[in-house]
Amino acid sequence: MAKIVLVLYDDPMDGYPTSYARDDLPQPERYPDGQTLPTPKAIDFKPGVLLGSVSGELGLRQYLESNGHQLIVTSSKDGASNVLDKELPDAEIVISQPFWPAYMTAERFAKAEKLKMIVTAGIGSDHTDLQAAMEHNVTVAEVTYCNSNAVAEHVVMSILALVRNFIPSHNWITKGGWNIADCVSRSYDLEAMNVGTVAAGRIGLRVLRLLKPFDVKLHYMDRHRLPEAVEKELDLTYHSTLESLTKVSDVVTLNCPLHPETEHMINEKTLKNFKRGAYLVNTARGKLCDRDAIVSALESGQLAGYAGDVWFPQPPANDHPWRTMPYHAMTPHISGTSLSAQARYAAGVREILECYFENRPIRNEYLIVQNGQLAGVGAHSYSKGNATGGSEEAAKFKK
Ligand code: NDP
Repeated sequence: MAKIVLVLYDDPMDGYPTSYARDDLPQPERYPDGQTLPTPKAIDFKPGVLLGSVSGELGLRQYLESNGHQLIVTSSKDGASNVLDKELPDAEIVISQPFWPAYMTAERFAKAEKLKMIVTAGIGSDHTDLQAAMEHNVTVAEVTYCNSNAVAEHVVMSILALVRNFIPSHNWITKGGWNIADCVSRSYDLEAMNVGTVAAGRIGLRVLRLLKPFDVKLHYMDRHRLPEAVEKELDLTYHSTLESLTKVSDVVTLNCPLHPETEHMINEKTLKNFKRGAYLVNTARGKLCDRDAIVSALESGQLAGYAGDVWFPQPPANDHPWRTMPYHAMTPHISGTSLSAQARYAAGVREILECYFENRPIRNEYLIVQNGQLAGVGAHSYSKGNATGGSEEAAKFKK
């Protein structure tokens, strides 16, 4: 019998939903590169219901308990007397979502003597100290591709919201009033702008494809170059350095994982290489950016806008300066946890658990760490080391 600790975000303020806005949940047949959607033997949930909050339990209880395992579900993960720390010493598997991450620091690894696997229900395993996972021989897996396209949609929405000055204009309507000049004095067309993505992996490439019909000039920077056919099809300009990309881009979007190589890649120094009045959209990870440098760049006008849904730590304190900085279009971390995405990653977690308990190999594309090494997708997209430093600040959040 294994103990599984599942850390999920809280239920809605007015209780777990009893009805939903829509009846069906359209899903793609495959992901754009041909990868199949998750293939568990069965699921015990109705796609379209809220699975990512505590009462949704990722639809895992029936499966785990009928196989004799113990499931603990909690949102309590930070600060004194949190449930995660209490349950860790005899937990075999810890599962959490990047939206409400269980920060698996080296200190927690030291306490979790029976830990064998950490599953990210989503994409992005930077909330786990990957160096410690390698040293403790703990497998780390995530549900690759489950929400990449969902995030790309959020990126396009955020770019348009900033460039068109949508949110302040919308606010005129809800607060009462009608000052058109106020709305449009910061409003531009996206058409003909230069848009650059830092990383052209699953999300970055999807963003480039979605933006192509806007007649923008597309740029990318990555550690590996895309196939020539893709560069030609999308008329892409490749940049080997961040500086070269940001010098020409009116809009920059960050789509790389957080790992020691990318932490704080956007800082006071690198922001100086941006065009004055550039927009920056970051739905990848908050810690890719230096928090205070972003605030200063918005205040000075070096950046015309900043949007995204990722913060560090999560949840951020109520006095986090990104809540109140000018010209932002921030949301809580939501882009990858639409009801559509939840159905895919809940099925993906079930697939990973079935493989684990039945001693079958976990798909290579889901693996980040295995047998003490970066493995699978992790070996391609991450670097060794730890990016969880400072996560104890999450305890400062007050509901
Ligand atoms: P992929 O693994 O498909 O793509 C990541 C890309 O980043 C790869 O092309 C990789 O390059 C590139 N990369 C890695 N390090 C660097 C670097 N130092 N400089 C430039 N490029 C680099 O992942 P996804 O596109 O699916 O997701 C990307 C990230 O987005 C996730 O790691 C996660 O942090 C975030 N995310 C956010 C979500 C949200 O809800 N907001 C949901 C899902 C993901 P290469 O492989 O060529 O080395």
